Amino acid sequence: MTDYRSLLRELPAVDRLLKEPAVEETLERLPRRLILQAVQDTIASYRAMIIDNRAGPARLDEIDLSPGKIAEEAVALAIRKGRPGLKPLINATGVVIHTNLGRSLLAGSAVEALSAVAASYNNLEIFLESGRRGSRQEHLESLLCELSGAEAALVVNNNAAAVFLTLHTIASDWEVIVSRGQLVEIGGSFRIPEIMAASGAHLVEVGTTNKTYLRDYEAMVNENTAALLKVHTSNYHIIGFTATVSTEDLSRLAHRNNLPLIEDLGSGVLIDTCKYGLPAEPRVQDSLSAGADVVTFSGDKMLGGPQAGIILGRRDLVNHMRKNQLARIMRIDKLTIAALEATLRLYLDEEDAVGQIPVWRMITTAPETLRKRSEQIAGRLAEFFEPGKVAVVEGSSRVGGGALPDAELPAYPVAIDLQDGPLSAAELAARLRLGEPPVILRLQQDKLLIDLRTVNGEQEEELVLAVKKACSD
Ligand SMILES: *Cc1c(COP(=O)(O)O)cnc(C)c1O
Repeated sequence: MTDYRSLLRELPAVDRLLKEPAVEETLERLPRRLILQAVQDTIASYRAMIIDNRAGPARLDEIDLSPGKIAEEAVALAIRKGRPGLKPLINATGVVIHTNLGRSLLAGSAVEALSAVAASYNNLEIFLESGRRGSRQEHLESLLCELSGAEAALVVNNNAAAVFLTLHTIASDWEVIVSRGQLVEIGGSFRIPEIMAASGAHLVEVGTTNKTYLRDYEAMVNENTAALLKVHTSNYHIIGFTATVSTEDLSRLAHRNNLPLIEDLGSGVLIDTCKYGLPAEPRVQDSLSAGADVVTFSGDKMLGGPQAGIILGRRDLVNHMRKNQLARIMRIDKLTIAALEATLRLYLDEEDAVGQIPVWRMITTAPETLRKRSEQIAGRLAEFFEPGKVAVVEGSSRVGGGALPDAELPAYPVAIDLQDGPLSAAELAARLRLGEPPVILRLQQDKLLIDLRTVNGEQEEELVLAVKKACSD
């Protein structure tokens, strides 16, 4: 019978393992501290395994404590830890703007602009004509005004910051009126009542969840009111017996009372979505022309740029925000400016925007194109499974990211049926997630769905290899 104490004594020491050939070889490729940590962690996990199994001598006998075996595990761990934490992966979910998977991808020209500026000094805050100190916002402001018709623009870190800065500047210690139907929560951490409280503005709720009328707002306007706020319900729709007030009507009411109307648009669409067979999504320029005094939206949702919060509107209000110390705290960096400027330039010609910005290219991919690509991939994947288990099926992709919540984009995913197979669907999905590169896909009961809308052509080969490897492991 094996005594666990003697096994603990048998465990090789750190120094002994560092002399193992596999470890020595790895020391030439990876930082020493990484390997040392991996060796210590591996020994600790063996120690824990022995202690956990001390009551079961049969199991203890099976533990291989040879230095070679433990060194091999330590090396594997060091290699895993030596890989980047944040890394590219294949999104086969068909959700185009997937917040957990990095939201929107940048257009090629935006990536180029970003890397050029990252590796070189640049004119971030200098006017090249005069040699005087400039503002980093200059690079974006005229483009944003040109595209939207706004008087002024200010860009901060993200839309949550944009909403916060707007409320803090315009309404701290004052009342802001919002419909009960628009007290949204986005992605768990952005909630209108909370962000408003944090900004110092007092929330005045009007109407009901499904119906709010102009007279509801009107009744609550008083000498303490600082603004009316309209929030786009980006990630849900209230259907049935509903009533909301248009931007036009709200702005008229606001202006009659000398108040600004703030509109949080969320996704920031500059293109008419109906033209591409999608449900209507309010456009930035329409809100401004309907009378909104300030609009805010994200840079990395439907706009298809980098993470940013864009504030557009009346010059006096935007100038006030610029002077707020919080604007300095939320300021965007040069990489974001470079990528956002390049993205916005594409919008000068809608065809360029739709053709080159990945979000728009993916959203507008024809179902027939997806079907053909899926058939090809299905043909290649079929050889790794039992006959009849891989098929192209009818389904739908989503825009995601709190945009167009009820849009179903017709799609033809590849379905892999794993019922009664050697691997369960959840197991194969887990293996794919842990692969290099990781593959994320949709699981539907015993089936895995691969939606190629969000997979680019160059990734198809990697995807096939990833499935092959996951099946043979
Ligand atoms: C997404 C969203 C936000 C938050 O924007 P971030 O860029 O994620 O900070 C705020 N308001 C609305 C309506 C949104 O849809």
